[in-house]
Amino acid sequence: DPRINGIKTKIRVVPDFPKKGIMFQDITTVLLDPKAFKDTIDLFVERYRDKNISVVAGIEARGFLFGPPIALAIGAKFVPLRKPKKLPGETIFEEYELEYGNDRLEMHVGAVEVGDRALVVDDLIATGGTLCAAIKLLERVGAEVVECACVIELPELKEANLDAGESGNHDKVYQ
Ligand code: 5GP
Repeated sequence: DPRINGIKTKIRVVPDFPKKGIMFQDITTVLLDPKAFKDTIDLFVERYRDKNISVVAGIEARGFLFGPPIALAIGAKFVPLRKPKKLPGETIFEEYELEYGNDRLEMHVGAVEVGDRALVVDDLIATGGTLCAAIKLLERVGAEVVECACVIELPELKEANLDAGESGNHDKVYQ
C-alpha cells in the first residue's frame, strides 16, 4: 500500500533518547501531518471494520493517540490500559519485565466483559512484552483478543516471540 511509505517518512528517529544507544522512533511527527495521521488510522480501520470488534484497548501512552480514532470509526468502545495508580476505579493488573525491573498495566474492572472481541493498540512493538501483558489482562476477564495493532515494528526484533496476536507479513510500518 503506497500510504505505508508516506507514513514511514513522517516517523522521526531520535538517536540516544531516552538514553544513549537507543534510536527512539518518534510518532509525534506523524501526528503533525494530517494526511499521514489519517492514512495510519484508515489502514487500521480498513483492516478491522468487518471483524466484529467490540473493544479497542489502548496502551498508555501512545496507544491512546491511535486507539480512540480507530474505536470511533469501527463502532467499538475504547478502554485504556494504564500505568500503575492512574485509574480511579477498581482495577486488575498484569506485570511485565522491562530491560531493568518490572512495570505493570492496569485495567478497570467491568470495562471489558466476557465475550468482548478485543483489538489491542500501541504505537510500537519491540520485545512484545507490553502487548503480552495487555493480552493476558483482556483474556483474564473473558475477552477474545482478535489481534494486536502497532504502527511500528522494530525490524531488529522481528523474532519477538508473542504468545498471541499476529505478526505476519509486515514491514516496519504495518497493521
Ligand atoms: P516492548 O514491550 O514490545 O518491548 O516495548 C514496546 C513499548 O515500549 C511500547 O509501549 C512503546 O510505546 C515503547 N517504546 C519502546 N521503544 C520505543 C520507541 O523507540 N519509540 C516509541 N514511540 N515507543 C517505544
